[in-house]
Amino acid sequence: MQKATIIGAGLVGSLWAVFLARRGYQVTVYERRPDMRAKGYIGGRSINLAMSERGWAAVEKAGIRPLIEKVAIPMPGRMMHAVSGETSYQPYGKEGQAIYSVSRGGLNLELLRIASEFPNVAFHFEHKCSDVDLNSNTLFFENTATGEQVQVESDLIFATDGAFSAVRYALQRTDRFDYRQTYLEHGYKELTIPPLPDGSHRMPPEALHIWPRGNFMMIALPNADGSFTCTLFLPFEGETSFEHLTSAEAVTDFFRRYFPDTLALMPTLTTDFFTNPTSSLITLQCQPWQWQGRILLLGDSAHAIVPFYGQGMNAGFEDCTILDAMYEQYNGDWSRMIPDFARQRKPDGDAIAELALRNFIEMRDLVGDPRFLLRKKIAAHLHEKYPQFVPSYTLVTFTNTPYHQALQEDERQNNFFKAVLDLPGIEENWAHSPALEQLFMEWYG
Ligand SMILES: Cc1cc2nc3c(=O)[nH]c(=O)nc-3n(C[C@H](O)[C@H](O)[C@H](O)COP(=O)(O)OP(=O)(O)OC[C@H]3O[C@@H](n4cnc5c(N)ncnc54)[C@H](O)[C@@H]3O)c2cc1C
Repeated sequence: MQKATIIGAGLVGSLWAVFLARRGYQVTVYERRPDMRAKGYIGGRSINLAMSERGWAAVEKAGIRPLIEKVAIPMPGRMMHAVSGETSYQPYGKEGQAIYSVSRGGLNLELLRIASEFPNVAFHFEHKCSDVDLNSNTLFFENTATGEQVQVESDLIFATDGAFSAVRYALQRTDRFDYRQTYLEHGYKELTIPPLPDGSHRMPPEALHIWPRGNFMMIALPNADGSFTCTLFLPFEGETSFEHLTSAEAVTDFFRRYFPDTLALMPTLTTDFFTNPTSSLITLQCQPWQWQGRILLLGDSAHAIVPFYGQGMNAGFEDCTILDAMYEQYNGDWSRMIPDFARQRKPDGDAIAELALRNFIEMRDLVGDPRFLLRKKIAAHLHEKYPQFVPSYTLVTFTNTPYHQALQEDERQNNFFKAVLDLPGIEENWAHSPALEQLFMEWYG
């Protein structure tokens, strides 16, 4: 039986273990954390995530979609909350289309459970990878429970150990390895809206809730237990920033001023605020994602992005789909497949990084802007009337169009809509505008 080693049993590593196990590999997975099946999920990052088409396509290909559907809540649209407390709703796509809120811990646990049911998958928890000797294919681990140092040799290594990947650090020390990381000036903090005493949600659960406030925002995703996980995105420093929110009074005043409708929904606001960490947001790009056709970076270790398009995990899952499809094409020859995958997929990693940064501006600023809302309405109208026109958000979220093509289309659509929104009287007559039709035909006819 052929052997493969996976470093990191997070979302992407656990899913990739399932793919490899189904291909008949003897898979050994090393994970720094304790076994969450015994000890529960211990994670520093977001409690829930939005899963969309690319994520679903991957779990479908892995043959485990029905098991994941059990833990997902559909969110067919976004609900914007104005400072006045007024709400408005925008569907994300067409009737029947939705993104799904899934618990990070629940999903990770489910993927681990599924992977561990294969007799050819073995997990070693509390094994922290500290280094890799690239010449001898030797991985070095510290057993964090016993302090023991462990060495393992492997001819085929998949690094799914996240944004601060130890395997990638080893590659970074090699000649001509490019690496760039950029932190956003914003950080994030998770807060909670608990369920009502009867276990129901305090806001409609069938939406991703957004409080856009210009340079900052808060979002909330529903959980299956009736709660919402809120994430406040705010600059670390400056006039309106985390640096000034240093007392319970300051936090309450801030929420009263900018998110007044949430105060009654968040009885534990100030406790949560000071208990939960303020975390940073990184975009990380590197290349090549591989070493000599024997070591491959997948998921965040290759392409960590900011969370505003809800695509980080989806992109990592899509890495698995694409690589698994190549397996057949290449007849299982990793020495050719790994370099080709790394080269072909890299432009998609860069494109979704860029799209995610753009979507931050859309979410925090534009979703409350009348011109932007008009653009969304016109885009939906054109998509309905001319199916060859697919809004770029739809391409990213509800299709498997390569991200680099979606980015090109986003740019084209930005230019097109700039011209559309300059048409005289478009606010009133967009549904029956000959000028709009003509412009559309010139761009897309
Ligand atoms: C606030 C926030 C919100 C997000 N929302 C979304 C969303 O809505 N939708 C979406 O698609 N994506 C979202 N993401 C992105 C998503 O979380 C990541 O893209 C995804 O977790 C990447 O999975 P991964 O398996 O590559 O890495 P990780 O999830 O980071 O897993 C890495 C694993 O490797 C282990 N590990 C690390 N170092 C070592 C080591 N040295 N040795 C052994 N094991 C190690 C870790 O313990 C972990 O289990 C969000 C991210 C953030 C920060």
